[in-house]
Amino acid sequence: MNIGIVGGGQLARMLALAGLPLGMRFHFVDPNPACCAAPLGSLTVADYDDEQALGALAERCDVCTFDFENVPAQAMEKLSALGTVRPTPRALLISQDRLEEKNFFSGAGFSLPAYQAVDSLEDLRRAAEQVGLPAVLKTRRLGYDGKGQRVLRDVSDLEPAFEALGSMPLILEAFVAFRREVSLLAVRDAEGHVRFWPWAENVHQQGILFTSRSGPFTASRREVHVRGLVRQVLDGLEYVGVAAFEFFDTGEQWLLNEMAPRVHNSGHWTIEGAVTSQFENHLRAITGLPLGDTRAVGYSLMRNWVGELPDRDACLALPGLHWHDYDKTARPGRKLGHATLVAEDLETLAATAFQLEQQLRGKGFQV
Ligand code: AMP
Repeated sequence: MNIGIVGGGQLARMLALAGLPLGMRFHFVDPNPACCAAPLGSLTVADYDDEQALGALAERCDVCTFDFENVPAQAMEKLSALGTVRPTPRALLISQDRLEEKNFFSGAGFSLPAYQAVDSLEDLRRAAEQVGLPAVLKTRRLGYDGKGQRVLRDVSDLEPAFEALGSMPLILEAFVAFRREVSLLAVRDAEGHVRFWPWAENVHQQGILFTSRSGPFTASRREVHVRGLVRQVLDGLEYVGVAAFEFFDTGEQWLLNEMAPRVHNSGHWTIEGAVTSQFENHLRAITGLPLGDTRAVGYSLMRNWVGELPDRDACLALPGLHWHDYDKTARPGRKLGHATLVAEDLETLAATAFQLEQQLRGKGFQV
């Protein structure tokens, strides 16, 4: 079976790593000839919306997907006229604009932080009064990993933040003093079967995911309620594949932050920490194979390597540590790889995490 992936980053790479044992072949479209998925399949070097490259991809592949939510949704819509594209480009369209996304999910019954659209400094002043400060000013489009955001703490922050971001449509949202950030990862197949992995608890640094931990946690009543909403949304969109939903847990509520219509960094722990990984289940869903078991096989802690990789060999000496190098050139703020610790119980996980932390601290890494 031939799988086309628009985007050749680490998510495409890990999809291919999961799909090769299932007998799948991979074809990527990416403007970067050195993109990190390239060694795992054939690569067409072209822009994500290059009509010729997408036409050839549709012709060659049984199904196409994407590894990046900023792939132009219109290009995916055109691609879906030529072949099967999963998940639906409509999910991309919703997730690419924070205002559309928030309107859609509040309409679907989710609780969200207060928000207002901002197109001028006047709007911002009015929005700040309605939403209150502190608040976060974000670009509506093309933001990821905390890019295109400013925290506003005081009225004097409004103008400089607007100056910094203001040439694009913006959104102001209330700053949430959350207890923790959690994500829910779901997979839906074309027949409407939906499965959830256990929630993951995420820690971000400078807007970039730093760690995710998960395990065989029992779903709380709140989570069961949120799962119900997620299921309805996925059914409504006739969504096929993996989707990730990020929430701020305030203690009283889970407020939706955003949805990613793809496999997600907070689900990397599933590679070794769940019976079936997010990557394998995404491929199973989009190719019509039966979905795999999403249960956790132990307690997991995933840690991203951002900007720099630590000493691989020293890390591998730790029990239960799994290493992932994305084969990317190091650059500040760039995700270069991750490691996942898996243990049978929380005590062992905490002990190994502590050892890893000591090792990293000694090398000047942020812990
Ligand atoms: P985003 O790109 O919207 O996912 O934001 C990246 C990270 O910035 C989030 O995971 C949070 O840690 C933080 N953040 C974003 N929006 C808010 C908010 N409204 N209140 C508090 N923290 C936020």
